[in-house]
Amino acid sequence: MTPNDLSGRTAVVTGGASGIGRATAVALAEAGARVFIGDVQLRTENEERFQTLSIEQSVCDVTDLGQLRSLIDGAAESTGRLDILVNNAGVVLVGQADEIGESEWDRCLDTNLKAVFFGVKFALPHMRRSGGGAIVNTASNAGLLPRAHDPVYSISKQAVVGLTRSLALCHSKDRIRINCVCPGPVSETEIMDSDLRSQADPSAAAERVIAASPLAAALGRMVSPEEVAAAVVYLAGDAAMMVTGTAIAIDGGKSLGVPPAMT
Ligand code: NAD
Repeated sequence: MTPNDLSGRTAVVTGGASGIGRATAVALAEAGARVFIGDVQLRTENEERFQTLSIEQSVCDVTDLGQLRSLIDGAAESTGRLDILVNNAGVVLVGQADEIGESEWDRCLDTNLKAVFFGVKFALPHMRRSGGGAIVNTASNAGLLPRAHDPVYSISKQAVVGLTRSLALCHSKDRIRINCVCPGPVSETEIMDSDLRSQADPSAAAERVIAASPLAAALGRMVSPEEVAAAVVYLAGDAAMMVTGTAIAIDGGKSLGVPPAMT
């Protein structure tokens, strides 16, 4: 068995109908896992591919803790185990403190942070019964280096990095590893595409986004969802058996600091 062989393992991916979550669900299934995705909005375009890979999809709003629990319990009950949880569902929130209302704060923090904590909580008993497990949370480069245009989103993702470290410390004794990925800027995601569409000149905006990440600028492209999924598969598998509490940046160096001027 290769370290990335996930045969016989059960995985749950939230926000699995689009972007990074969809690429992750596919990559986990291709590595052999039985994958269950939950998403607030399922997409017909996924049906054929998901069926081929036996990926089960159900409607799940992660801010509704009853629905989140049902997704996780359902996967564990139908396969008799739970090995992998990817807390990936997320929403952006652009705006300054004087513009953000309580309901926007709640939606952002409930989706990006509260659901991650409760996802871990609901997974713990199943993973303990399975003898251990791997949880991967999707944070962001904004979780490592906050950004001026989306302070509340940045707060939510910094908190995910902190939550990952705290809970990793608590649950190593259960052989449950908890890590996060910090991606960005990621192409072929609704989060990125809708942001670009909202700009007066989407292609100029895409160029600015690429320029802000040194490797993206050097390669002339954004990070792909599959590149993030590959890191999740690594963290979920036995190759990462001694890895917990880490935050892997898959951001072309964006969170390292201010990039040098390109010549
Ligand atoms: P995406 O919009 O393509 O995918 C997000 C998915 O989450 C969608 O399918 C959406 O329906 C789902 N979702 C949103 N709210 C939900 C809820 N309450 N319950 C269940 N599902 C919900 O965008 P993406 O980039 O693939 O986003 C995945 C994660 O990656 C998010 O946590 C996001 O913050 C993070 N991220 C994205 C980027 C980027 O550049 N796209 C960068 C850093 C981090």
